[in-house]
Amino acid sequence: TPLDKIRNFSIIAHIDHGKSTLADRLIQVTGGLTAREMSEQVLDNMDIEKERGITIKAQTVRLSYKAHDGETYTLNLMDTPGHVDFAYEVSRSLAACEGALLVVDAAQGVEAQTLANVYQSIEHDHEIVPVINKIDLPAADAEKVRAEIEEVIGLDASNAVLTSAKSGIGIEEVLEAIVTRIPPPKGDADAPLKAMLVDSWYDPYLGVVILVRVMAGTLKKGQQIKFMATGTTHLVDRVGCFRPKIEQLTELGVGEIGFITAQIKEVAQTAVGDTITDAKRPATEALPGFKLVQPVVFCGLFPVDAAEFEKLRESIGKLRLNDASFTFEMESSAALGFGFRCGFLGLLHLEIIQERLTREYDLDLITTAPSVVYEIELTHGGGHLELHNPADMPDPNKIALISEPWIEAVIYCPDEYLGPILKLCQDRRGIQKNLTYVAGRAQVTYELPLNEVVFDFYDRLKSISRGYASFDYHQIGYREGDLVKMSILVNAEPVDALSMIVHRGTAEARGRGMCERLKDLIPRHLFKIPIQAAIGGKVIARETIAAMRKDVTAKCYGGDISRKKKLLDKQKEGKKRMREYGSVSIPQEAFIAALRMG
Ligand code: GDP
Ligand code: MG
Repeated sequence: TPLDKIRNFSIIAHIDHGKSTLADRLIQVTGGLTAREMSEQVLDNMDIEKERGITIKAQTVRLSYKAHDGETYTLNLMDTPGHVDFAYEVSRSLAACEGALLVVDAAQGVEAQTLANVYQSIEHDHEIVPVINKIDLPAADAEKVRAEIEEVIGLDASNAVLTSAKSGIGIEEVLEAIVTRIPPPKGDADAPLKAMLVDSWYDPYLGVVILVRVMAGTLKKGQQIKFMATGTTHLVDRVGCFRPKIEQLTELGVGEIGFITAQIKEVAQTAVGDTITDAKRPATEALPGFKLVQPVVFCGLFPVDAAEFEKLRESIGKLRLNDASFTFEMESSAALGFGFRCGFLGLLHLEIIQERLTREYDLDLITTAPSVVYEIELTHGGGHLELHNPADMPDPNKIALISEPWIEAVIYCPDEYLGPILKLCQDRRGIQKNLTYVAGRAQVTYELPLNEVVFDFYDRLKSISRGYASFDYHQIGYREGDLVKMSILVNAEPVDALSMIVHRGTAEARGRGMCERLKDLIPRHLFKIPIQAAIGGKVIARETIAAMRKDVTAKCYGGDISRKKKLLDKQKEGKKRMREYGSVSIPQEAFIAALRMG
């Protein structure tokens, strides 16, 4: 395809503003799929994605559109993941495009995620086409949203396209805007091959599929290619594109987006952002912007039933085939037995993996307190240490200095929720950097320790703002902190799954909260159970669970046998989901529930 007939674009939007629905419409209108095939949203193809309404893995589709000028154009639509945890993947998808559709819900207006994405898009020099969607809603106010886009983002929205992706209004106008307003790609067809590795995933039939954008030269079937960052060479055995069904091609020319396969077995062998070049005639310089993504949140995953350890190992291995961004290594704990220490890009990523293990692989899991990575300087030139697990915290008098990762967060909310939001940020050791009001909304910027955000910050923010606040963050580096390890003791035994690193200033409140919640979560036993939070040898909070009467069935006031049996069965059922700590049984749910702050 000649360059001037190609348009590469992505769609950026806040969650739920209609990105996937619009993408599906564009595919439908350009004839990619029949109406029946459209009955399901095609771009969100994993079950969990559908339920959560988010796009986890980037997908791309090639459309052919005969425009009003009589010419047929090749439009490559790049779908991007919609969550802060996957920011680097988003940045590579954007780097593969020349423009973006900015979808804004006509009833909701501009949200934090919209802003974060649009700034990234601007950084990539994109031509941005504002699309005001959901104009069919009674609460839609397109003029207000148009003004908001101009005022808040600073984009000219006078020629924004008004759409209802749901009822199919304005779709052709969107296609025309793509052709006439987004510039075609540039690039030298005769130069040595340079293709950006935008994304990769495991397909049971094809093996690892790699999504690429050719920046220079040509990528051909049968070509020997080299990955510049990882240094490996491979033979390209398939070249093609998605329409969204697979179409095999013989080559991808400069400016084009498509996929290749090269008999690669594991996604871990491919790095997003890497440059693919010709092994025999390599490019001298790689494309800019390559970065290895590193997990930022770690936790332990243990099977409730120790006999399921092998099954857990196998299941994690399978998930990892398709997601190289989480890491795992074996871990053993006195109380929980054998399990894995896993690293994730963020909390949502953790929840997705945990949910898939539970649902798709039918595993009962105990998740230990999520932790960020701390940097520790040891005393007496003992060197430097990266701490991923509170259980590995060195003796406090061997620590010269400990630092923790910080983030800069932008929160965007209607005025009336600002008070409680500021308080939440203050309680989490936040430092306010900026506060502005635009069009009846507040935009507040805070620096926060990541550790204070990973537990339940997002849930709290949503609940105190009744869902109206939105939140976006990026990491800004490490800072020294007065951090200590807090242990939880149940019946005088430390429960390592619940130990966590906390700031000394908030330790007591955290400890008290944990003890109070555990008191409600751990059932009564035949004896009294003390629950304590301690730092070093010093107890900072304590609760006691009173002893229970000897015979549970005594509650049934004699007589009713079937009721008695039911109660005993229920107890047995409960036993399976319990962990024994010395002589105390702790229900599986308690581990996660205890971490949620009140
Ligand atoms: P995404 O998270 O941006 O991909 O949003 P989706 O495309 O999944 O849409 C979120 C919700 O909004 C879904 O329930 C859609 O059916 C609905 N939706 C999308 N576009 C429209 C529209 O134009 N009008 C109305 N009323 N609802 C829409
Ligand atoms: Mg979507």
